[in-house]
Amino acid sequence: MSDNTKLTFTPVIGIEIHIQLKTKSKVFCSCSADYTNDEPNSHICPVCMGLPGSMPVLNKSVIQQGMLAGMALNCTVQPTTYFFRKSYYYPDLPKNYQITQSDLPIAANGWLEIKDDAGNPKTIRINRLHLEEDVGKLHHSAADGRLEGAETSWVDYNRSGLPLAEIVSEPDVSSAREAVEYVTALRRRVRYAGASDVDLEKGMMRFDANVSVKCSDGRWGRRVEVKNMNSFRALERAIEYEIKRQSKILAEGGEVLQETRHWNDAKETTTASRVKEFYRKFIVEPDLPPLVVSPQWVEEVRGMLPEMPNEKAARYKEMGLSEIDAGVLTDSIDVAQYFEACVAAGANPLRAGNWVRTEVLRAVNDRQAGDRQVGEKQAGDRQFGVKDLPVKPDVLAELIRRIDDGKLSTTLAKNVFEGLLEGLSLDEAVKNSGAAEGGVNAGALEDLVSATLAANADVVGDIRSGKDTKGKKVKFLQGLIMRETKGQARPEEVAAAIESALANPENLK
Ligand SMILES: [Zn+2]
Repeated sequence: MSDNTKLTFTPVIGIEIHIQLKTKSKVFCSCSADYTNDEPNSHICPVCMGLPGSMPVLNKSVIQQGMLAGMALNCTVQPTTYFFRKSYYYPDLPKNYQITQSDLPIAANGWLEIKDDAGNPKTIRINRLHLEEDVGKLHHSAADGRLEGAETSWVDYNRSGLPLAEIVSEPDVSSAREAVEYVTALRRRVRYAGASDVDLEKGMMRFDANVSVKCSDGRWGRRVEVKNMNSFRALERAIEYEIKRQSKILAEGGEVLQETRHWNDAKETTTASRVKEFYRKFIVEPDLPPLVVSPQWVEEVRGMLPEMPNEKAARYKEMGLSEIDAGVLTDSIDVAQYFEACVAAGANPLRAGNWVRTEVLRAVNDRQAGDRQVGEKQAGDRQFGVKDLPVKPDVLAELIRRIDDGKLSTTLAKNVFEGLLEGLSLDEAVKNSGAAEGGVNAGALEDLVSATLAANADVVGDIRSGKDTKGKKVKFLQGLIMRETKGQARPEEVAAAIESALANPENLK
């Protein structure tokens, strides 16, 4: 064997993502799509059970949500597409075929921008987004004694026929980290578009990865499809594991087999599928007409697409916000809208951005953590969000305005904010916080500065004779005065008053 220590390996990765589109009913019948807390097999009918004689009818809102998701990913909507039957046998599939658009998708040729491992912008091309139906869910448990050595399995068809979009990327991803960044960006945009809740805990977003490795000596490993990842962490670990496994095989002079492997979340390994997958039989679905989308409909749906997070973040940066602040504020559309409402109500954008990023998000996180602790949140409940905060954006804007007008110090405003969180009105919260009406007035502040300077003549002398090169003594005086005002004065104001008093000693009372 040659000297393998110099060999390097370049991963080539494509990602397939299934997301559940947000609709009231399933894709080909009127069964409710929201079954989270319901009994197994309570959301089924002859269509989603695949009983003979039942006919699928395409739900129009699935097409709209598919178009929205595609547009959010910079795809082009295809005017005419078809549905196919993908035939295979499995207990979670009562019809013995799945209806899917497969490679004649509703949307194609999209892209997303991420940062590569060196921090440079990188485009991940999206081959297509196609619509299909979900299958049922199998539950396994230990043997119940009826069949020796066998485990017992139940099947729940509530999920059968839920609308899915499968999003297939080109093999442009080069690392596990890039994969996570890609799916994070994709999830954010799809959620912005309102096309899916993409709740990972509820299985609304699932990942498969096609991983191969190219060796620096020119050898290629065959493509391995890794299935069954339901979280960002699982996706990251599975890709890392596969890159390592395949690199090792190539380094040892072996051959990587083309196969399907399953990610085992508990063992953190991938294992080869025991079952060969036979589903190469596609026929055009005879019970559904071709899907034709008019240009007018496409434009109508495009009009429903909100401003996307990257564009929002760019606009926030033009308002003067830092890249980090703009990123945090645009992570969720609800937070971005809260911030924008605050600015629209007259708040200074920088201060509003800072308040939303720190105090507002902290309050939301505290409440979410509290809900988890007391177990208030049911599996099907919506998580507490910024929209549920008792402090509305216009009230926060007014609070920020009072800081800017010098009526409240930042410290005091934070106390007021706590009162607002408890449901107090702004006036009640201000009164409760102990702030004097109107804050510290200029005359009172001048008197306080005079008295403090007079009581610290030695410090003042040092400053005047130029010994306070680092400004520590001025800060000391400022601290004394802030303490006297119990935090009600603004630091800038106090600093200005001291500076003015030092510059004009004749004015000192
Ligand atoms: Zn049904």
